[in-house]
Amino acid sequence: MGTATKQHTETPADALVRMLQQLQPVEVETVPASSAWGRVLAEPVRADRDNPPASVSAMDGYAVRLADLNAPTLPVCGEVAIGHEPLVLPAGHALRIFTGGCIPAGCEAVIRREDVRELGSAIELRVSPQAIRPGDNIRYQGENAKAGQQVLAAGRQIDAAVASALAAFGVSRPRVFRRVRVGLLITGDELLPPERQPQPWQLRDSNGWTLQSMLSTVPWIELIRCMRAVDALPAISSSLDQLLSRCDAVFITGGVSMGDHDYVPAAVRDLGCRVVFRKLPIRPGKPLLGAVGPQGQAVLGLPGNPVSVAVTARRFGVPVLRVLAGFSTAEPPRPVVRLNEEDCDAIKLWWYRPVCLDSDGTARCVPNMGSGDLAATARSDGFVEIAPGQSNFDSLPFWPWSI
Ligand code: AMP
Ligand code: MG
Repeated sequence: MGTATKQHTETPADALVRMLQQLQPVEVETVPASSAWGRVLAEPVRADRDNPPASVSAMDGYAVRLADLNAPTLPVCGEVAIGHEPLVLPAGHALRIFTGGCIPAGCEAVIRREDVRELGSAIELRVSPQAIRPGDNIRYQGENAKAGQQVLAAGRQIDAAVASALAAFGVSRPRVFRRVRVGLLITGDELLPPERQPQPWQLRDSNGWTLQSMLSTVPWIELIRCMRAVDALPAISSSLDQLLSRCDAVFITGGVSMGDHDYVPAAVRDLGCRVVFRKLPIRPGKPLLGAVGPQGQAVLGLPGNPVSVAVTARRFGVPVLRVLAGFSTAEPPRPVVRLNEEDCDAIKLWWYRPVCLDSDGTARCVPNMGSGDLAATARSDGFVEIAPGQSNFDSLPFWPWSI
């Protein structure tokens, strides 16, 4: 098929995009704001009224008319109580005002408290009257947003900044994408659950915990189930079938290479999934498989080495999940880092190297023994991507382990 032949020329990023283009976001639901933190907005947010809703003071100070400022002192005739409707400023007077207080009718500027001498019932300017300009320290009605204006686009995560806008515009039940349902399938005859005591020829399954820790605390993901299967086609097919019936995305680890006991590609095909890519020019993780299930489910077969799983889940799996989740971008804005001089090296593949970050933005490679070295990887903050033959290492894309 055409998809299988593209792998020789296309970059891993292009292969990923090809998979992303075949995915649709999950359904939309309406939830109370208190259940929406960290979820993805499914509709734009519009201002239900002007913001600010009335002209208000930006400072603690005195509301004045400019024509009154040439007198040696100005009597203070009262105070603007915050949270009350606007007053009228009598000519020849000042009103004491606080940040957020409504600008009284007739007021042309607010003079900051530190710019006057307070004489009990009057004020005297400490600055020249010419220094006070119309509009000084006034936030005008609607200057942030006009009623009806779009404030936020769909596809944004409800973080602290978005939540503030939802509250201000009265969106107490936002429309959000439902959580992406993710299933995990860990394959391998040699594996035991981490809490069991293995024989020397057995391994504790670390990939299950890698993926659970990466995904289970993410607010827009619902981790449905983590299954284990031995290296046999019926076992893998039956587990995958169960997960596909309940999930939007299934990540499988192990059994995806060319070994006699690598049954994942066959199971994926038998269940009617369309393979989008198989093998990418990357290290670690070369045998990575991407497929789309009969109901549009995303299926990734991650090569079982622990570092391969962590890297490919983060680099390829997370963008896949983000598209299913309805995000407007497959990756959030990503920091770039400069690679420590001694680590500058390239190979013929796209190379993902676990690094520690210094506070100045320099990344240092964690010395490691290869894609099985989870001890070294455990000391890293994330990884950088080095293109084949790359010669400049000043701004490499960096992926932190946490999403
Ligand atoms: P595979 O991709 O199944 O050929 O596995 C490649 C290597 O990764 C083998 O050495 C496996 O023992 C190891 N491995 C596979 N799955 C896991 C796992 N869940 N936890 C720890 N090591 C694993
Ligand atoms: Mg295996």
